[in-house]
Amino acid sequence: MMALNELEQGYRKLRREKSFTAELKSTLADFVGRPTPLYFAERFTNHVRGPRIWFKREDLTHTGAHKINNTVGQILLARHMGKERIIAETGAGQHGLATATVCARFGLPCIIYMGAEDIERQAPNVQKMNLLGAEVREVTSGSATLKDATSEALRDWVTNVRDTFYIIGSVVGPHPYPMIVRDFQAVIGRETRRQARRAFGKLPSALIACIGGGSNALGMFHPFVSDKKVAMYGIEAAGKGLRSGLHAATLSKGKPGVLHGSFSYLIYDRDGQIILPHSVSAGLDYPGVGPEHSYLKDIGRVMYHSATDKQAIEAFEEVTRLEGIVPAMETSHALAWLVRNSDRFKKGDNVVVCFSGRGDKDMPIYDRWQREKS
Ligand SMILES: *Cc1c(COP(=O)(O)O)cnc(C)c1O
Repeated sequence: MMALNELEQGYRKLRREKSFTAELKSTLADFVGRPTPLYFAERFTNHVRGPRIWFKREDLTHTGAHKINNTVGQILLARHMGKERIIAETGAGQHGLATATVCARFGLPCIIYMGAEDIERQAPNVQKMNLLGAEVREVTSGSATLKDATSEALRDWVTNVRDTFYIIGSVVGPHPYPMIVRDFQAVIGRETRRQARRAFGKLPSALIACIGGGSNALGMFHPFVSDKKVAMYGIEAAGKGLRSGLHAATLSKGKPGVLHGSFSYLIYDRDGQIILPHSVSAGLDYPGVGPEHSYLKDIGRVMYHSATDKQAIEAFEEVTRLEGIVPAMETSHALAWLVRNSDRFKKGDNVVVCFSGRGDKDMPIYDRWQREKS
């Protein structure tokens, strides 16, 4: 609790300080490349035959996904709090990369905890993190994947809290992390509000985003929560199908429980053991989900649905060929759900998809999928 209290106090004080907000703003502009465009997907719109579809282009940020918004925010927080050593967890390697990137930029030593299983599956990301000067620490406990890497990072943090800052990668973990990550990602939704007014003169009819831990979705949704007319849809990974037992659909199929310091929907078995999630997209397979999403589900403000591996791959191909933009496999889940559910919207509705990242990193997955198919 001491570590968490110190973090909360540091954050509450700094987020109002001019020197902090000015530095955050200029780093987001010049290093990350914000604001990202709100792009009208004309051919995809014609293909889907329903609402007008817009992409909020987080794929165009430096490093190619929304994760950098959060790591930039947290490393500035670390510096202002006088912390000199950075640690983080990673599953697919995307958050590890975004953290290693900001550590290189600000010259702080960086240790990334990663499951042995993931190190093997995500070799190119490990090489990139090493190139950036980070140390990747292998975690062999438990299932040797993301949840174990997260536990290990939390252990390191409480042991070395005096000089160490733990940069968490999504709106998960103990308070104040879900709040801090949400606030740093909310730049997505704030820009979207402004850009929507300029592009079509009103707020969007609906927002759609994929859900792993839930940070790109919450970043998009948060500034619109009190706008009752804006519908919101969070799309989880249904893997091989919701009834297959091989999925990461925590909100659709999970039950309330506690993991890594927060109370949220989780997938676990009769003995209370976490069930390992499955998804074709490595960035979506966390067995929990942000507590604020659990709340938004319970109060009915956000609708949560899912898309399977196969549907996501199809959307990955379709959008690439229609728009000349390769979506991340995570983003492809949101796109896949929209393709199948366009009749929920009226012609002329403006629907914004949070285009969380680019799919270059997913070419090996796509390649393997095609080979297994043939
Ligand atoms: C990590 C990742 C996600 C899932 O994480 P959230 O916290 O749910 O946003 C989605 N899209 C991309 C491109 C990612 O890298």
